[in-house]
Amino acid sequence: MRGAIGALLLSAVLGAAPAAGGRVIAVAPVGDVPAEAVSRLVPVLRRTLAAEVVIGPALPLPASSYDAGRRQYRSTALLDALARARRPGWDRLLGVADVDLFVPELNFVFGEADPDRGVAVFSLHRLRAEGAGPAGDELFARRAATEAVHELGHSYGLGHCRDPHCVMWFSNTLAESDRKGTSFCAAHAAELQRLMGYLR
Ligand SMILES: [Zn+2]
Ligand SMILES: [Zn+2]
Repeated sequence: MRGAIGALLLSAVLGAAPAAGGRVIAVAPVGDVPAEAVSRLVPVLRRTLAAEVVIGPALPLPASSYDAGRRQYRSTALLDALARARRPGWDRLLGVADVDLFVPELNFVFGEADPDRGVAVFSLHRLRAEGAGPAGDELFARRAATEAVHELGHSYGLGHCRDPHCVMWFSNTLAESDRKGTSFCAAHAAELQRLMGYLR
């Protein structure tokens, strides 16, 4: 997103108070998650959503989320835990997991969001790139940022997009995620600014 909002000078400090008039988005690990994978989302989210971004305390993976038959974790149970952990000063709380997530109707999900409760979650589990090295690491980070922005977009009420380059495109595969990247199309950028209360 570019333009009207401009670059806000904001800091990612644990438990920081909200900036005057600014939105605060908190990001928190859910379960065992590499700290670096969480911290490197901060600058991307700050830039893309023009909000203050803070890292919240880690949450345990809810035991009730595990489905032994599927050997996967029910993403909606993670949203329930996030909704309980969300603080009043946080406009949104995004959980970052590193387990295979599902909803009953689908084989798996990259993430899920709940606009009513202001929470979202995504998992790193299916985002790792083939091969190691800096290129693979960079791709992994980009995929994580893409899923984070996509789910936060849903958490503000955005639906899916027909533009395959918009971050709100529904990705069935990693190839589709890689094609779309972290940017909103012009229409979704404007709609998000309106939903976040920056435009009327
Ligand atoms: Zn989606
Ligand atoms: Zn779009």
